[in-house]
Amino acid sequence: MSLQQIFATRAARMKASEIRELLKLLDQPGIISFAGGIPDAALFPADAFAEAFADALTPERQALALQYSVSEGYLPLRQWIVGEMARIGIACDVDNVLITSGSQQALDYLGKLFLSPGDTALVGWPTYLGALAAFNAYEPHYDQLNVNGNRTVESYVEAAEKNGGTVKFAYLSADFANPTGETLDRAAREHLLDLAEGADCAVIEDAAYQSLRYDGEAIPPILALEIARKGNIENCRTIYCGSFSKTLSPGLRVGWVVAAQPVISQMVLLKQAADLHSSTINQMAVCEVAERCFDDHVARIREVYHRRRDVMLEALATYMPEGVEWTRPEGGMFVWITLPEEVDGADLLARSLETEKVAFVPGRAFFADASNGNTIRLSFSAMKEELIVEGIQRLGRLLRGL
Ligand code: PMP
Repeated sequence: MSLQQIFATRAARMKASEIRELLKLLDQPGIISFAGGIPDAALFPADAFAEAFADALTPERQALALQYSVSEGYLPLRQWIVGEMARIGIACDVDNVLITSGSQQALDYLGKLFLSPGDTALVGWPTYLGALAAFNAYEPHYDQLNVNGNRTVESYVEAAEKNGGTVKFAYLSADFANPTGETLDRAAREHLLDLAEGADCAVIEDAAYQSLRYDGEAIPPILALEIARKGNIENCRTIYCGSFSKTLSPGLRVGWVVAAQPVISQMVLLKQAADLHSSTINQMAVCEVAERCFDDHVARIREVYHRRRDVMLEALATYMPEGVEWTRPEGGMFVWITLPEEVDGADLLARSLETEKVAFVPGRAFFADASNGNTIRLSFSAMKEELIVEGIQRLGRLLRGL
């Protein structure tokens, strides 16, 4: 007997991505990688963390740092988050904040909380592939979220009913989305709130890249716009997911959720059942580093990524052949490329690794229906400027030779 035969039906929706195999080749020497959407490790505030961990392990604090703690999260960190949220128009209280093990965990919990098999999740086409992976376990249907008002509320509701469920949430990143790098303007954010009202569903606002704006005007988060409409977070349907991964460190796995209290209370129960709480010492260290130098640190990394973004856009303009299009992100880590229709991103990656030693992520994985094979995602955050130019030059050469 094979145990695979008795896995729950949800296991069938959890597939290893084909591109993982290709991306294993990244360890080869000489590869220029635009694949990982990751911070540059050279920029981590390692000295500040060394001190913060040493402080957490002093005799007065070690019992707190190494002990079990509450599921809601380390209170001083939640208090710091409340202050940060106030700065971007989100008035909330510590009881509206739950610390999670990265924002990825929040996505899993939200899938678990809202989706019965057959329910509908509205997502971008493309969207963050980790969100699809998290939600897939709860066996939803996906429908294409259109934030520009080209679809009626009824069309979403009816499609969901035909599939035997209801629309439970719209998931999106409003700022510098993964994979496109694009930002929703204010009108689109307001429209999304109207849509969520009409469909009576939640909005999951994934703010993983929000602090990384390089130019243009900041636009209030969707949750801030909803609080402005309704006067109080307790009346809001938007659930905001934040993360320290792109600013301080992804390895410590510290993220947070801000939402109305009934949502947070239920998520606390999910967290108790899943992992009791996020690492106490990591939360203490993140809190100390955030209190001491968050703004200075983020300003520094923004400056570096800003230059890298400019260098990548310039190199694309110089080296890409006719028929290739790309986005011009105001922040974040990604540029999204649309290739001529007949070029498949996964084939291009295989060739590129072989002949030009340049890596990127084929775009198909970001579409819930695995469509749009002629797209790729490039990340500029972790490569030095000279290598960005060299890598784009090589990619241009490969595309010209097709
Ligand atoms: N959301 C988006 C849009 C992301 O790109 C990522 C990381 N790639 C995450 C969430 C998860 O980040 P973390 O769990 O490290 O906070």
